[in-house]
Amino acid sequence: MRPLPEVQAEVIDAVPQLPLRQVGFREARGLVLAEPVVAPHDVPPFPNSAMDGYAVRHDDVAAGPVELTIVEEVGAGQVPERVVGSGEAIKIMTGAPMPAGADTVVKVEDTDMADPATVRILVAPPRGTNVRPAGGDMKAGTPVLDAGVRLRAPQIALLAAVGVQPTVRRRPVVAIVSTGDEIVPPETPTLAPGKIRDTNRTMLRGALEDLGVTIIDRGIVPDDVELLTRVLGHAANQADVVITSGGVSMGEYDVVKAALSGTIAFNKVAMQPGKPFAFGALAETPFFGLPGNPVSVLVSFEQFVRPAILHMMGAAELFRPRIEATVAERISTDPAKTVFVRVEVSVDGGWTARPSGGQSSNVLSALAAADGFAVVPVGTGDVDPGDRVEVEMLYWPEQRTRREALGE
Ligand code: AMP
Ligand code: MG
Repeated sequence: MRPLPEVQAEVIDAVPQLPLRQVGFREARGLVLAEPVVAPHDVPPFPNSAMDGYAVRHDDVAAGPVELTIVEEVGAGQVPERVVGSGEAIKIMTGAPMPAGADTVVKVEDTDMADPATVRILVAPPRGTNVRPAGGDMKAGTPVLDAGVRLRAPQIALLAAVGVQPTVRRRPVVAIVSTGDEIVPPETPTLAPGKIRDTNRTMLRGALEDLGVTIIDRGIVPDDVELLTRVLGHAANQADVVITSGGVSMGEYDVVKAALSGTIAFNKVAMQPGKPFAFGALAETPFFGLPGNPVSVLVSFEQFVRPAILHMMGAAELFRPRIEATVAERISTDPAKTVFVRVEVSVDGGWTARPSGGQSSNVLSALAAADGFAVVPVGTGDVDPGDRVEVEMLYWPEQRTRREALGE
């Protein structure tokens, strides 16, 4: 058996980074910045008001309540024409440019109208109150996003603010194939004897959609070496990555092995689940042969495929976040392997982890109930209640109902 980190490093080193391209804001989500972004201008681009109120000279209001003459009104998107002189104010809306002469905005709640042309200032605010300076958020010429950052809604908003359409590595195209004579489409209403529905391809689709790649779904291939060889050959031509499930262990019907041994390395990784794992290049296209059992598929996807695809996309950070949790129930594991235990986590002061159900590699119910994988390192064996473990979070799901969140 090979240590998990050794195989992970080999995989990441072997996969190529995808070519660069500039994309629009609408296509950017989930992709990774390939070059740092420098703000081409200040954000905000001009000093402006943070409040609806009155732009004034601080010297006029410093001593407390005073009446000022309103000389102009300026809304967001407009440009003030007048300079605020001594004894004067300009009525200003949030986001409108600061008029020359003014250095402070008194919010409307702190004022009163003496007559339609005169505002009474009721407070003495510090100089600069409610003024957002030019460049207060981002300064022209300074780096604002690093290369390697994955673009999500807030980062795309930042790019929009500076008008920079990002250079990224192009979106990977990933082909998926299920193997097995027993596998039928998940839509099959009634199962014939001996058949089971295709959970792996359905799960991989979901996991890949979360990753934001383009999917080529090559369906189910029966345990037929020639047919599989043909399908994989096409897939390798069309895609940047090819993933199969099933057929990689020692059985007589293990078609992936029959089709690819010689081309691809069939590893035994010191991990559970997911020990058999095939990896290599199919006509230069990275190929991942995942095991057949659904839990093994997701664990192998998470440990090998997902980090590799993120690396191909240019991401600096490849692995899911881990939290440290206290174990609530005894967990027995094989000390010879890194064991990924499906756990539910809850937080009450600190994090607690408990197994979410049966731990065999075919048990989807415990996988579906899990928030993540408790990672029990090689050499550990049994974990007792009160022991600390790292939990690799699969998702950060919503965990609070309306009642819990709103205190209703
Ligand atoms: P294999 O490695 O092909 O012998 O598969 C191991 C186990 O995983 C067997 O019980 C298979 O029936 C099951 N399996 C393989 N592929 C799938 C799939 N796509 N969906 C659900 N179970 C599968
Ligand atoms: Mg099979």
